[in-house]
Amino acid sequence: MVELIIEKKFIKQFENKYPLIHREAIRNANELKEEGEIIHLVDSSQKFIAKGYYGNQNKGLGWVLTHNPDEEINVSFFRSKILSAINKRKGFYDDPQTTAFRLFNGEGDGIGGLTIDYYDGHYLINWYSDGIYSFKNLVVTVLEEYGECKSIYEKKRFDTKGKYIDDDDFVSGERAEFPLIIKENGMNFAVDLNDGAMTGIFLDQRDVRRAIRDRYAKGKHVLNTFSYTGAFSVAAALGGAKKTSSVDLAKRSEPKTMEQLSLNDIDIEKQDLYVMDVYSYFKYAKRHDLKYDMVVLDPPSFARSKKKTFSSAKDYPSLITNSVEITKSNGIIIASTNNASFGMDQFKKMVDKGFKEAGQAYRIKEEFGLPRDFTVHKLYKPSNYLKVLVIEKIAK
Ligand code: SAH
Repeated sequence: MVELIIEKKFIKQFENKYPLIHREAIRNANELKEEGEIIHLVDSSQKFIAKGYYGNQNKGLGWVLTHNPDEEINVSFFRSKILSAINKRKGFYDDPQTTAFRLFNGEGDGIGGLTIDYYDGHYLINWYSDGIYSFKNLVVTVLEEYGECKSIYEKKRFDTKGKYIDDDDFVSGERAEFPLIIKENGMNFAVDLNDGAMTGIFLDQRDVRRAIRDRYAKGKHVLNTFSYTGAFSVAAALGGAKKTSSVDLAKRSEPKTMEQLSLNDIDIEKQDLYVMDVYSYFKYAKRHDLKYDMVVLDPPSFARSKKKTFSSAKDYPSLITNSVEITKSNGIIIASTNNASFGMDQFKKMVDKGFKEAGQAYRIKEEFGLPRDFTVHKLYKPSNYLKVLVIEKIAK
């Protein structure tokens, strides 16, 4: 156990249950030794304020776990947090049309640095620091106790000897057969929990996929950029899109997208796939005078390609400008970002800048944030990272 003294001006914040132990709040951070050790946050007269653990993330030094000085950080602690998260998601367990969701969402469910996703009885744990990883046995014990656990996989999203993800992410239970087919609002998706950092689907876009299928896609030609495994194209095609065109730089996106489309009995002949840089595709589309009824933009926060480095914070306005130029008048642009370093207000400014540059008027029709299984901590703004805008081009 290590006692860390909070700088005076941050005391109120921690008393109010702010969850992140950030470096500038701590006077004696040099006393931290081993990741996973328990931290007592105290004021300068050693009055107890909160208890947490040491785990280095780019965000900070660790997370607060409790404000009760008598609460031990042991298997009972993890059991109570995880069971209460499970209870909050009973509706998902009971819904046969949706068999994958976030079961435990870090600080939003009381333990920063840890997320657990549920894929039809198989659990995927994401560890965001060596510190939280030191509690692995406790977390695994709790999940195994809970009857419906077929298997457990993990992603170590912190650098262990220069490597982020192991070659084998299997932890316990009976190995699943991949691809595993999960359902989301009746749509089928193939996932693989043991194939690198990503699983094949981003569960946080569930509400957006549903809206695209149920309300936006009918009769439209949809351009899906940064399409990955084509989940938005699947939703659009099932919603009656005339055609979908998916663009992603990664070669694996092509077979993966074919797989997702076929799993949903979608006519592959009517869907186009391009393994291509999005900016090259914009040029191609302009040269051939292609116009879309709807363009979906869902770039990563950062990406390095041969030609350049993409950063959503810097490049979003230009993505919008390019998209506007290839969207039909009265068409729709769905702009999404998972960049936690800015909020919705700033995102709207980037979108506005992009439309101004194109000299185009627009109207925001709808906004999305995280779905309800991605519980956020209301005092820690970056936990609410997802921002999605449905924007309509309007005639001037
Ligand atoms: N929209 C997807 C998720 C996107 S993940 C979904 O809903 O499932 C980000 C994707 O962007 C990755 O598949 C990556 O290969 C792709 N990507 C990154 N930079 C790119 C670029 N410059 N052009 C095209 N695709 C890019």
